[in-house]
Amino acid sequence: MFGFSIGKIIVLAAIIAAVWYGYKFVYRLDQNRKREAEKSKLKKTETINKMVKCPSCGTYAVDTGAARCGVCGSPY
Ligand SMILES: [Zn+2]
Repeated sequence: MFGFSIGKIIVLAAIIAAVWYGYKFVYRLDQNRKREAEKSKLKKTETINKMVKCPSCGTYAVDTGAARCGVCGSPY
C-alpha cells in the first residue's frame, strides 16, 4: 500500500493519544495548582477586607463572625 500497515497506524495513533492525554493531564495539574494559588490569595484578601466598623464606638475590628463589637459589645 503506501508503505505503512494498519498495525503501524494503530501504534502511531496510540503514541499520539498518549502524548495528547499526557499533555492534557500535565496542563490540568498546572491549572489546578494555579487555581489553588489564586484561591488562597483571594482568601487572604478576603480576610483583610473583612474589617468592620462598630456603629456605636467606631472601632475597626476583624469580622470573626461573632457580629459583636470586641470593644463595646454592641452588635454590628
Ligand atoms: Zn463597639
